Amino acid sequence: MKYVSTRGNAPSLDFEGVTLAGLASDGGLYVPEAWPRFSEAEIAAMAGLSYVELAVKVMLPFVTPSLTEDDLRDLCTRAYGRFAHQAVTPLVQFDQQHWLLELFHGPTLAFKDVALQLLGRLFEHFLAKREDHLTIVGATSGDTGSAAIDAVAGRERVDIFMLHPDGRVSDVQRRQMTTVRAPNVHNIAIDGSFDDAQAMVKRMFVDSHMTGRFRISAVNSINWARLMAQVVYYFAAALQLGAPQRKVAFSVPTGNFGDVFAGYVAAQMGLPVERLIVATNVNDILHRALSSGDYSAGTVTPTAAPSMDIQVSSNFERLLFDVGGRDGKALAEQMAGFESTKAMQLTNAQRQGAAALFTSARADADDMGQAMAWAHEKCGQVIDPHTAIGLHAARTAGIAAEIPVVTLATAHPAKFRDAVERATGTRPSLPGRMGDLFERAEQYDRLPGDYDAVRDFIEAHATPSA
Ligand SMILES: *Cc1c(COP(=O)(O)O)cnc(C)c1O
Repeated sequence: MKYVSTRGNAPSLDFEGVTLAGLASDGGLYVPEAWPRFSEAEIAAMAGLSYVELAVKVMLPFVTPSLTEDDLRDLCTRAYGRFAHQAVTPLVQFDQQHWLLELFHGPTLAFKDVALQLLGRLFEHFLAKREDHLTIVGATSGDTGSAAIDAVAGRERVDIFMLHPDGRVSDVQRRQMTTVRAPNVHNIAIDGSFDDAQAMVKRMFVDSHMTGRFRISAVNSINWARLMAQVVYYFAAALQLGAPQRKVAFSVPTGNFGDVFAGYVAAQMGLPVERLIVATNVNDILHRALSSGDYSAGTVTPTAAPSMDIQVSSNFERLLFDVGGRDGKALAEQMAGFESTKAMQLTNAQRQGAAALFTSARADADDMGQAMAWAHEKCGQVIDPHTAIGLHAARTAGIAAEIPVVTLATAHPAKFRDAVERATGTRPSLPGRMGDLFERAEQYDRLPGDYDAVRDFIEAHATPSA
């Protein structure tokens, strides 16, 4: 498989190239040159496969020839062996129509583990082959940092430097990062906000002094390999509910549009998807874009579902490219306009193309609390605030009663105990494997909110590229 940039002006790369590159050199995002497609008979033959075997079937067309089938199977076996549930992403029934796809059985209790556990191993595999070294630099306000750290801790050829705003992440989130003891893991608490930390990371990517010495990489969801790994669980859920003979709808708590874009990819590959419901909180740029064509960023309002508190959804560009006729030059102009004014209108082709598969809904704090309470009182399920936004959207989207609707459960409720307790009166406890989180020793460095201090620290501790 070859990959092309959404802005049409970067070299096309193979899977190994896009995995290590992240962003394309023209500022665009890499997408497959064409969607691989399974026949109905091929999809029917996937029923009953283990998660790992299904993952191999679904991902093989995307990774060939960079990985052999045996390499891929080996990486998936090790990545998904870290999950606490044999089914990896088990499906739970809510009521006659609604189902919950639990994506939080990985080591850090959020769905990001599904992709990052594989990505960490892909990095190691490709770097060993090239005898090279990677320096991951990231800023986190919560879930991404812990999932990325767990995915690369102790791995050869990768160092990770994760910046978090000092005193502004929850105790659970901070401890999930700072209690990981491995020589290649460097947690840095910055005296400043998340935006200050993020700005420093962005500056480092264009600092030629740093990029000349180190192969610097990001782990956010612009990386194609992350999206690819998420396509698998759409197949897993739909197959259990009767695909390919029966259509299934999905409701996805959305921030950066990575997870729900993976559902779009599954549909392009032949999975019979009735509808993809994009669920947002009050930070609703995607709801406005999909319902009225208005893609304009406001200011971020903090909510009880912080991983969805986002105003610009990077992966939306991939959808605009695909439904807008794959015209990289036109999209580059449209995105340049957006970057200067923070607003744009979708074209008619983009609106119609998106409307064929996507619906959107917005949930405020009351909707979210009511969905948590409904799940608890009527279905005996305790769900987290992000999942509750998805459930609210699923139940209000007007999907025909005979179509099963799967809400993606993106985080374990114990990650957001206060919000869950407020809505349900129940305080979820951390799963057994996390039970000693508050006894483990923490290790992190504190630095001033000053770029030079952060750069000097990373330069002193990272391994130069080959
Ligand atoms: C990251 C995250 C999301 C948003 O996913 P995107 O792929 O960015 O749309 C939703 N819920 C939780 C718990 C997350 O960690």
